Amino acid sequence: MIFHQNRHYILGFLGIALSTLTFAQKSPTEIRLSDYRPKSIFKIPVSIINKAKFAIIDMHSHDYSKTDLNVDQRVKNMDTAGIEKTIILSYETGTAFDSVVKKYSRYPNRFEVWCGFDYTGYNEPGWPVRAVKELERCHKAGAKGVGELGDKGDGLFYSKPTPAYGMHIDDPRMKPLLEKCAELHMPVSVHVADPMWMYQPMDSTNDGLMNAYTWRIDLTKKGILSHEQLIQTLKNAVEENPKTTFIACHLANCVYDLSSLGRLFDKFPNLYADIAARFDETATIPRNVHAFYEKYQDRILYGTDLGYDLNMYRNTFRILETADEHFYDEYSYHWPLYGLALGDKVLKKLYRNNALKILK
Ligand SMILES: [Zn+2]
Repeated sequence: MIFHQNRHYILGFLGIALSTLTFAQKSPTEIRLSDYRPKSIFKIPVSIINKAKFAIIDMHSHDYSKTDLNVDQRVKNMDTAGIEKTIILSYETGTAFDSVVKKYSRYPNRFEVWCGFDYTGYNEPGWPVRAVKELERCHKAGAKGVGELGDKGDGLFYSKPTPAYGMHIDDPRMKPLLEKCAELHMPVSVHVADPMWMYQPMDSTNDGLMNAYTWRIDLTKKGILSHEQLIQTLKNAVEENPKTTFIACHLANCVYDLSSLGRLFDKFPNLYADIAARFDETATIPRNVHAFYEKYQDRILYGTDLGYDLNMYRNTFRILETADEHFYDEYSYHWPLYGLALGDKVLKKLYRNNALKILK
């Protein structure tokens, strides 16, 4: 789940237009770092890709469409951009889940709605049995997977209606649920941690300060896990449930050190990762990421997590498909982006074929 970029895509335009007017004329000694929004000066190719080169399954999106009309518009955008299917990670259980399923049911081939876990009473005896029951009910109601589960340090808090503070993905109480997911062939999409910048000191040395400060993690909270400890909880769960398919959201929030995710891929064939909402983070180290996507081309999945605006899709295609250099996403980090120039073989797997293996 990531809200800032959606909001920025909508509100950002006005804000940037205003701030460009106001701050471009300010003396450099008065410009705040957060207002520094350079424009590329280079006369180099600019690619606009309206439609993806190959059909896409978007493995990481949410219930952004509040009305039937919104759903219709969303399908139109998907057609224009070349998105064959979108996985709606609903977080929901109970009747709330059922109504999300209903909303998208007019387009059964274009959407899948995944459910959350019902953590209600997770500190009480007998909870796993009740939670498994609700999972089975959601599965019957149409859930083909689970997600997005989420833990940034103080426990699994994404599923509705109840956050499970203090309980992590590798908690013994979670095991019956994760095993049931294997039995029902339901993949588990789980967000652990956040990008490393959010866990580091918010000072002049923080490499991703502008986004990091907004999403900073308070490590002084009692019982909160560090980034490293969170990745360990993921590793434990994947290791202890070899029959369950896990999708680590956002490249397991390990863009700062992709080799750590690589080590997990090497060890655990039941682990995949989506690249949702990590486009600007990866497009600043294009050669490194290109090599990583080549090496692990059977394990990575396309996802967006950023609404369904056409410009959002186009930005992802530009980053994945082109060799464009030094372009900015005005609504995100301050650094310039570079296209990854992925080859057709990798693109096809990333866009669709790896997803098909999981969704079969
Ligand atoms: Zn998400």
